[in-house]
Amino acid sequence: MKFLKKALKVVSTLAIAGLVGFLVFAPGYVERSRNQVAEHAPYLISDRAQALHDSLVIGDWHADSLLWNRDLSERGVYGQVDLPRLIEGNVAVQVFTAVTKSPAGLNYDGNDAEAFDNITPLVMAQLWPMRTWWSLTERALYQAEKLVDLQMSAPESLKIIRTIDDLEEVITRRAAGEKIVGGLLGIEGAHPLEGDMANLLRLESAGYRLVALQHFFDNELGGSLHGRSNAGLTDFGREVVAEVERRGLILDVAHASEQVVEDVLDMVDMPIVLSHTGLRSVCDVKRNIPVALMQRIAATGGVVGIGYWQEVTCDDSPSGVARSILAATEALGGDAVSLGSDFDGSVATAFDTSELAAITQELLKLEMSEDAIRKVMGENLLRVMRARLEMRP
Ligand SMILES: [Zn+2]
Repeated sequence: MKFLKKALKVVSTLAIAGLVGFLVFAPGYVERSRNQVAEHAPYLISDRAQALHDSLVIGDWHADSLLWNRDLSERGVYGQVDLPRLIEGNVAVQVFTAVTKSPAGLNYDGNDAEAFDNITPLVMAQLWPMRTWWSLTERALYQAEKLVDLQMSAPESLKIIRTIDDLEEVITRRAAGEKIVGGLLGIEGAHPLEGDMANLLRLESAGYRLVALQHFFDNELGGSLHGRSNAGLTDFGREVVAEVERRGLILDVAHASEQVVEDVLDMVDMPIVLSHTGLRSVCDVKRNIPVALMQRIAATGGVVGIGYWQEVTCDDSPSGVARSILAATEALGGDAVSLGSDFDGSVATAFDTSELAAITQELLKLEMSEDAIRKVMGENLLRVMRARLEMRP
């Protein structure tokens, strides 16, 4: 009996130690392994490229940094985005997107909505509040709270963009030399609505201004590009799209099925965003929707954000990414191309956000004009953000 008691004590101590070890080390370990920057010699930037880069207003449509527990007010030793690195990279506006569900066996071809959700153990291991464990709405709300906390801890470095005035303030303060980044909240897939329009208003109140319809699986709004049905918008999806348009929110069709993109284009009269993608003419994969559909997005006055990772660019070096950007401007026009890094979105890249001058330099090498570079690096993003935020009631 005494032995049994002792053995139980040892086992439970080991279990607690194991759990504590898991909670302390696992999230960091997971992030370290998911958001890798390939080891590389420093990118040497010419004076001309650096001077141009320093004069740009840079915007990025997509980073999933809020999913992780890293302190974004400090320069991280892993991951790809935090405030010091955004400032070093001269980024003016960063869209922070909330990932809330991600099916096990993640792939670009077909995922089941019912597959085990990898985000559930991650939020538990990161000790997020229990309300986030089983609710996608709460996961999104919590990520918005994280950005608000970050703003409170570093108000000189981050301003959350909720209104057109917020956006203009960030641009004005930066023009005056302040090192401040504007952060705009987005949801990666509208499953945090949990099928209830009232939740759109809750998310909007929490600061969300960009709504992507799908992520890796079919949801209540319609088919995913990587789901099973390839379906178009459902009735609920149509209601949400109409409400997004009416409320001056930004609509993102990244990860949506081709049919969803077509349905959206048929029903709206606003600039549409495809936040993070590559170009099929450069990298012929299913993740990159056909160029003809992207041209329809361009025709709305919208933009396509080019990502930096291997699976969509087929060459993730700065020169490879620049080639995708150049090809996109040739296929879609110089007003329709933006940046959509997918940093901290479980992708490996050849550079982090502090090293964006390498992209500017490679675009110059490809003989893109300085005006054209200004547009893709940020002015096109600003145009669309302004157009939408100005419409807010
Ligand atoms: Zn994504």
